[in-house]
Amino acid sequence: MVRAPLTNGSRFELFNLDLDPAFDLIKRSGAKVVGVQVPEGLKRMASDLARDIQEETCAEVIFSGDPCYGACDVDLDLCRAADLVIHVGHSEMLEGDPLHDKVVYVEARMRADVREAVEGAAELLKTSRVGVVTTVQHIHKLPEVLELLGGRGIEGIVRPGGRTRYPGQVLGCNYEAARNADVDEYLFVGTGQFHPLGVALATGKRVVAADPVTGNVSVIDAAPMLRRRYGAIARAGDAERIAVIVSKKPGQRRMELARRMMSLGEEQGKRMILVYLDRMEPDALVNLGVDAAVSTACPRIALDDQAKYPVPVLTPPEFEVLLGRRKGEYLFDEIEQMPI
Ligand code: SF4
Repeated sequence: MVRAPLTNGSRFELFNLDLDPAFDLIKRSGAKVVGVQVPEGLKRMASDLARDIQEETCAEVIFSGDPCYGACDVDLDLCRAADLVIHVGHSEMLEGDPLHDKVVYVEARMRADVREAVEGAAELLKTSRVGVVTTVQHIHKLPEVLELLGGRGIEGIVRPGGRTRYPGQVLGCNYEAARNADVDEYLFVGTGQFHPLGVALATGKRVVAADPVTGNVSVIDAAPMLRRRYGAIARAGDAERIAVIVSKKPGQRRMELARRMMSLGEEQGKRMILVYLDRMEPDALVNLGVDAAVSTACPRIALDDQAKYPVPVLTPPEFEVLLGRRKGEYLFDEIEQMPI
């Protein structure tokens, strides 16, 4: 059964969650304690979800109170405390750790109609063969998107990626599904600016974004982001003490890459410090007394949140530019399938 879990007039009415497979699994496995992880944008549905799970399964429900931004961020402590963990809103990503076997993924699918946005975007497309990408929230709409484009004589190309579950799906940290399409132009269907900007930066190609919620369409301009990033690199130019950040989150943990960044900095006489943390906060950098940081964690930390931090935070490819080890076009920091 497809459920609409909230009816309080909030934005959660935008989503469908199919909880029945998770309920079946809880009952079949005899789980007595069920953990639930919900992304920040859906957290206010927690009490409704808890009620539904308890009524359906009689299991005790424990919610993760920590922020959760992606499937990279499975709460392993909650996995230890619970018999099963329901991870809401993201598609499955991690494998290989026995704790992950406890996790059941319940994807959130947006109900928003794509027609208006896609038809508007088709007017802005310049080529008759375009790569089509989206996030998991709209992935079920891709057949309709392709049909709408086809009706206007535009061939939509959908390709799989490595870190993502569905063809055409992109993440803030992975645009392989876009790069795998041999096209000169992309249509991104979804909300927000970060993903279409990521497509533009990762491919260097023209991107038209279609937002099914607002109906807005736009051609992505990556130039302001690039100016900000080269500004951050320039500000880090005099940095002597540099922290290399490694995330504890299982799908962001790139220790090998961090060690490589440490070596590169040390070779150039920088005072490098390797820092392992769960959540990047401005205070962490202030207290460490560093002049700059290199984040090997989620690329959004450096690209989306720079304004929060007191010192420049660079991605690994940006750090290589700073050290003169990388030349040429800007390289967007992407995380491969299994970063551990
Ligand atoms: Fe999303 Fe960042 Fe996790 Fe990638 S690393 S899945 S962009 S939260």
